[in-house]
Amino acid sequence: MTLFERIIARELPSTIVFEDTDFIAFKDINPRAPVHVLCVPKNVSRRLDEITDAAELGRLFETAIRVARDSLGLKDYRLAVNVGAGAGQIVFHTHVHILGGWMEGDAEMHHAAMAAVDG
Ligand code: 5GP
Repeated sequence: MTLFERIIARELPSTIVFEDTDFIAFKDINPRAPVHVLCVPKNVSRRLDEITDAAELGRLFETAIRVARDSLGLKDYRLAVNVGAGAGQIVFHTHVHILGGWMEGDAEMHHAAMAAVDG
């Protein structure tokens, strides 16, 4: 069982911001932006490039966008995916990082956004 499956099963606590039959989104335990949420498909794959079905990839990003806009109320945000350990992936259950909530014009914003998911 992956760490995120244990969150889905409520074996581990998390702050869930969205859930439907196919996806869950919850706050990252180590936020690297004022708002940092992970959007996770319940259908487990180890990494993004294992998902070969374009519709499944589409649903993942469609859901991440809906969570960012509707659940989190973000107008501007960054979506990021680390694909593989060499890119900073630590949890091998595909997920999209949703990062946002910076003040407009914040000088730190760009730096924070770029460094946010480097681990
Ligand atoms: P990755 O580096 O694999 O792209 O991102 C994994 C993310 O999962 C990291 O940002 C990390 O902070 C987060 N994370 C790791 N363990 C937990 C946990 O137990 N609960 C939550 N909510 N997030 C976690």
